[in-house]
Amino acid sequence: MVKLQSDVSVELVKHSASDSDVLWAARVSTAGEQSLEEVHKDPEKSKGLINFLMRDRHGSPFEHNSMTFFISAPIFVFREFHRHRVWSYNEESGRYRELQPVFYVPGPDRQLVQQGRPGKYEFVDGTPEQHALVSETMEESYRASYAAYQKMLDAGIAREVARAVLPVGLFSSMYATCNARALMHFLSLRTKDERATVPSFPQREIEMVGEKMEALWAGLMPLTHAAFNANGRVAP
Ligand SMILES: Cc1cc2nc3c(=O)[nH]c(=O)nc-3n(C[C@H](O)[C@H](O)[C@H](O)COP(=O)(O)OP(=O)(O)OC[C@H]3O[C@@H](n4cnc5c(N)ncnc54)[C@H](O)[C@@H]3O)c2cc1C
Repeated sequence: MVKLQSDVSVELVKHSASDSDVLWAARVSTAGEQSLEEVHKDPEKSKGLINFLMRDRHGSPFEHNSMTFFISAPIFVFREFHRHRVWSYNEESGRYRELQPVFYVPGPDRQLVQQGRPGKYEFVDGTPEQHALVSETMEESYRASYAAYQKMLDAGIAREVARAVLPVGLFSSMYATCNARALMHFLSLRTKDERATVPSFPQREIEMVGEKMEALWAGLMPLTHAAFNANGRVAP
């Protein structure tokens, strides 16, 4: 009855986003109105302009585009995600539909043990015993809480009341829409990368979402993505 899952999923469901959009918005400064095709006719110049905009943090040309992702991840990931206020979100409702018993358990590669103090700590692998303990304990807890949820629904209790017993390891789903500037800000905080001049220490599970979004975005805006990496992964 309870499904356990260690991965998150991210799908790019809608987009209007390309490097040309950045060039087009930036070139109005010097050239006035131009077509999208016209702005991208010299690839070397395009690359240089995007790099300049990124390096000097001229951020607004990176806002004239849109990407909508469908994301399926545990509720604790969404709690962190929703702190990013310049995105638009719509999430499935625990009031209007019965929540499905899909729960998160860390996969075998997930480092389980934290060492050091807040702000200066690292994660290291767990032992096989610790992995087994985490999997078994989570499953037991998930089964008990979902059974409690079902018991209340079966007795006619409203979904919005019964859901109080469900844990943050429950999977949820949402559409999340952003532009490239907002995505770069998100990635600078929610991924770890040695090219970052300002390192961040995100929780692994939101980083898994970030990595999948980044791969999809890189396919749409390769010059912008390369300039982001070349300039320390700081959002312009
Ligand atoms: C590793 C890590 C640990 C964290 N730990 C905690 C924690 O323990 N507790 C906690 O509560 N949060 C925590 N957070 C969340 C963090 O404080 C931010 O809320 C989150 O990263 C979103 O960042 P943001 O506000 O820059 O992004 P967004 O909300 O997307 O905003 C983007 C940018 O817009 C501007 N902006 C948006 N709103 C305002 C505003 N009201 N006023 C002025 N400028 C604005 C800012 O320049 C901001 O950087 C953590 C985040 C990370 C990455």
